[in-house]
Amino acid sequence: MIGLISATAAGAAARDRLVAAWPDRVRVYEGPVGRSVELAFAECDQLVCFLATGAVVRLVAPLLTGKSADPGVVCVDEGLRHAVSLLGGHGGGANELAAQVADALGCAPVVTTATDAAGVPGLDTLGWPVEGAIASVTRAVLDGEPVALRADAVWPLPPLPGNVGAVGDAVLRVTDRVLEPGVREAVVRPPSLVVGVGASKGAPLDEVLGLIEETLREAGLSALSVRALATVDAKADEPGIVGAARRLGVPLVTYAPGRLASISVPNPSDAPLAAVGTPSVAEAAALAEGGELLVPKRKSRPLPGTGVRAAMATCAVVRRAPRGRLAVVGLGPGARDLLAPRATQELRRASVLVGLDQYVAQIRDLLRPGTRIVESGLGAEEERARRAVSEARAGHAVALIGSGDAGVYAMASPALTEASDDIDVVGVPGVTAALAAAAVLGAPLGHDHVSISLSDLHTPWEVIERRVRAAAEADIVVTFYNPRSRGRDWQLSKALSILAEHRDPDTPTGVVRNASRPDESSRVTTLAGLDPATVDMMTVVTVGNTATREVAGRMVTPRGYRWQS
Ligand code: SAH
Repeated sequence: MIGLISATAAGAAARDRLVAAWPDRVRVYEGPVGRSVELAFAECDQLVCFLATGAVVRLVAPLLTGKSADPGVVCVDEGLRHAVSLLGGHGGGANELAAQVADALGCAPVVTTATDAAGVPGLDTLGWPVEGAIASVTRAVLDGEPVALRADAVWPLPPLPGNVGAVGDAVLRVTDRVLEPGVREAVVRPPSLVVGVGASKGAPLDEVLGLIEETLREAGLSALSVRALATVDAKADEPGIVGAARRLGVPLVTYAPGRLASISVPNPSDAPLAAVGTPSVAEAAALAEGGELLVPKRKSRPLPGTGVRAAMATCAVVRRAPRGRLAVVGLGPGARDLLAPRATQELRRASVLVGLDQYVAQIRDLLRPGTRIVESGLGAEEERARRAVSEARAGHAVALIGSGDAGVYAMASPALTEASDDIDVVGVPGVTAALAAAAVLGAPLGHDHVSISLSDLHTPWEVIERRVRAAAEADIVVTFYNPRSRGRDWQLSKALSILAEHRDPDTPTGVVRNASRPDESSRVTTLAGLDPATVDMMTVVTVGNTATREVAGRMVTPRGYRWQS
């Protein structure tokens, strides 16, 4: 929830614009501003104050508790010129919020966090807990001082600049082990540990949590690296286990007893077999997704003074191998403002970028310093797909890019055919050429439509022709990708002639070359009037259905509303 605080009429008017824009995200605080800020600070994740920064600094100063707990605070000036990220730039999300407020109110975001300004990721933006000398190590990373990276394994970290390497006085450590950090050492806690937990009915929270914490402590493992608690389905609502997961701030995952029974464990026993149908809960649940058993089953100590003598909880700890991350990112048709913000984020999140050289050139300026670029030329598709997957399997954060949408006649399918289930995959959709062209032409895709690639390099012509014929018979709007190249000059004419068997010669037909690029060109012509010689590989051709009309020079396929007939 975002708390909104204002003092003046101009502030209130701006505040009301945010209320209208984000009705479900905001709460308005009225009355004396001091009291409002105090309440909002306690109740909200973020604050937007239509007040001077000085006033807000004085008001929030006595309320501050620390980077991880304080809400993000954004200040907007009376003249609505600036949205200033004042407090909690990363952890509190104020940098992001300042950008959103700036968008909503038409002012400029002001972000002063050093790491954002330099394009280097802040240690606290990794999404993982960080301890130790965070400020000092961040400074060293930013200042270009040598920083030693000591990671227990290859984790999918974002790119780090060249001064982060094998040696340095400042140390960036990535480990789940407890250690005494040096004065110039920051420790990133990767989500590597899974704690399997079993408990009898009514096991007290303190006994369960106490067992987990003591077990981790004795094994020299950090609770900040615990990614999940795991147990059997029957214990999904057991208060002590649910409460322990909540206190540790991690999800609770549960498994069916049959699944757990199939996992071989060092310490099976009869008691859980009788109670919940598996000879092991803690060890089997911890091991269910694989990994290495670091701490075999341990039992809790009964809490003193409860009169209960028997242990009521068990736990076991497993370390999972890091999973690499493959982001398949569509860059859109060309124009920078048709590249999705999420795509930009993923490009900056990846430490390895794989793509065709001309696409890499399109977004090179967005990459963070230290990104390893693996580019290749046309025709090296197989190599690109394999390389992207093998880098991810080695544990890295990889972005595989493609123009338009990376899944449309592009790299997503060959890459995911190679991929195994030991990596995480995320897709970011892009505006595909058919849509970019449609927006230029008018509304040609207002009813059912299909895309057909005329490239017979990987698809036999008979298959292509059968699909063109089916689209023709079904009266579907067709967009041709890869319509014509120097070596493939007859396919487009053939495809158009098949459509002409079922559509009038004057069916509107749109041709768009380099949609959204600086040299974009387009025309609306007819099925009979299109000269294939004017079409090349930078072009898509969209042929209307029997209802498509040209209206005021634009191509329109009716939606079929009765009021328009
Ligand atoms: N993944 C891409 C398509 C790759 S196939 C996408 O989703 O758009 C390559 C074909 O796409 C080209 O031959 C051309 O027909 C079409 N194409 C790609 N970008 C284009 C653009 N900006 N304008 C017109 N056609 C384009």
